[in-house]
Amino acid sequence: MAEPVSWDQRIRGAGLRATAPRRAVLRLLSAWARPATHAEVSEALAADSWDRATVYRNLCDLAEAGLLSRSDMGDHVWRFELSRPEASPADHPSAHPHFVCNTCGAVSCLPDLPLPIEHVPAAVRAGRVEVRVHGICDGCAA
Ligand SMILES: [Zn+2]
Ligand SMILES: [Zn+2]
Repeated sequence: MAEPVSWDQRIRGAGLRATAPRRAVLRLLSAWARPATHAEVSEALAADSWDRATVYRNLCDLAEAGLLSRSDMGDHVWRFELSRPEASPADHPSAHPHFVCNTCGAVSCLPDLPLPIEHVPAAVRAGRVEVRVHGICDGCAA
């Protein structure tokens, strides 16, 4: 399968060495297109025989380099996902909310939401906020 982007280029562009675990983490999170926990990523990459500590260190390195974003959905567990390219010009800030299922805890990404720019804290204008929506996912509602 052809890859739409060169992970090596992206990793090096962020100032990191392009290693196999880093490529694997980015490829996996790109395919999933939702925030995933360290446990989920470790399990999915277990066949590559990288231990959990290696996966964790690479998740953190990629997050610090800005290739991944890291968020806590309220359960004190970090979830990692690919950073989206900055689509927020200063006068049209936006953020993509996350949907969290109240029953099973599954997390998914929702489409971008425009943010208000008047009478709000500077962080909102800059798009540096996390928006979470809670409800029941389709799987649990069925
Ligand atoms: Zn659910
Ligand atoms: Zn997301």
